Amino acid sequence: MPWFRNLVHLSSTAFKSQLSHKPAVAVNKSIPSLLSHQLLLQFSNTAATATAEKVPVDNGGGTKTSTPTSYAGLGPTKGDQKPRLVVLGSGWAGCRLIKDIDTNLYDVVCVSPRNHMVFTPLLASTCVGTLEFRSVAEPIGRIQPAISREPGSYYFLANSTGIDFENHVVNCQTVTDGVDTLPPWDFKISYDKLVIASGADASTFGIKGVKEHAIFLREVHHAQEIRRRLLLNLMLSDVPGVSDEEKRRLLHCVVVGGGPTGVEFSGELSDFIQRDVRQRYAHVKDYIHVTLIEANEILSSFDDRLRVYATKQLIKSGVRLVRGVVKDVQPEKIVLSDGTDVPYGLLVWSTGVGPSPFVKSLDIPKSPGGRSVALPLLSQLKTNKS
Ligand SMILES: Cc1cc2nc3c(=O)[nH]c(=O)nc-3n(C[C@H](O)[C@H](O)[C@H](O)COP(=O)(O)OP(=O)(O)OC[C@H]3O[C@@H](n4cnc5c(N)ncnc54)[C@H](O)[C@@H]3O)c2cc1C
Repeated sequence: MPWFRNLVHLSSTAFKSQLSHKPAVAVNKSIPSLLSHQLLLQFSNTAATATAEKVPVDNGGGTKTSTPTSYAGLGPTKGDQKPRLVVLGSGWAGCRLIKDIDTNLYDVVCVSPRNHMVFTPLLASTCVGTLEFRSVAEPIGRIQPAISREPGSYYFLANSTGIDFENHVVNCQTVTDGVDTLPPWDFKISYDKLVIASGADASTFGIKGVKEHAIFLREVHHAQEIRRRLLLNLMLSDVPGVSDEEKRRLLHCVVVGGGPTGVEFSGELSDFIQRDVRQRYAHVKDYIHVTLIEANEILSSFDDRLRVYATKQLIKSGVRLVRGVVKDVQPEKIVLSDGTDVPYGLLVWSTGVGPSPFVKSLDIPKSPGGRSVALPLLSQLKTNKS
């Protein structure tokens, strides 16, 4: 996760001394928006370290009990404290709720491996530089300032790993993503109200090599990796001595999955080729191609007219549409079920989503696909508008 790594790196070096002495919100006002991501991460690392070292449970509002426990975390709220709303996830659902919740009535604790929300419909545009990455990410602390200010409200950089519904406790594990400052550790949070908004995982259908060689398009760091790979391949293919065949492979951008994301991304790529590559990489412009592979029809959940229109537009803009089923993904080629080899330089995987292992593990009612979780609580929560 380069996005995450960047944040950790910056937050733990250049800004460390400023941040440790000042309230996040005060610094937030005087610095550009990117730094507020770093502030949030710095805050979450600091807060989590404190709970890990001090075993007693924090009862919220900064009050420590004397009851020893076998884990670090936030214990049950007391009668004179605000009820604690715990939100798992910082995506569309979680952030929408966090934004509107009435923080005079609730303390809010958000647990998510991501300290920002991503405006996913704009993500494809960042891959080709039409938009900058910071334009599509909003720090959680800016969505709900109480999370940075209020003594009983927090953001924790962690995955929820399980829920004890009987005792109203969420089990969490910090996310350190290989950064060697601290090993991941477990902590617990007691909740009064719980919202599970942890989204879904990208589907790979168990196809070998997808996770290792393809790039998904769901997070900012995915878009960064796509942009990096695209530019790298454009420059490498211009180096003397690279064979025509190798140039063609390096500049073959393959998108697997003809749903809205795959179609939109293919369109963005072909715009980029027509507008930017032709001017700025004129030596290799004839070698770059986009192929969209789909097992059935593109945009199969949309109506006919839209499907026909999208197909025409994609073909017109130079996207090659291939109907096929991917059987195997290797470092430089994919193999289709009919035995065809498709060499690639960039492979983007966008074949839909399915339930995450966390949601699968929960023993609660789910939708037929096993994805969404039905919670009767939402209607009971008081927002600024209710
Ligand atoms: C490129 C792209 C373009 C899209 N365009 C559109 C569009 O134009 N229109 C549209 O309607 N939809 C679009 N979508 C779909 C839309 O983004 C999703 O439907 C939406 O994000 C789902 O919201 P969510 O809150 O359920 O999950 P998400 O937004 O995915 O958020 C899930 C959150 O939970 C966190 N999380 C994951 N696991 C855990 C855990 N164990 N513990 C705690 N937190 C966890 C994640 O880090 C994330 O913060 C697009 C999706 C993509 C990828």
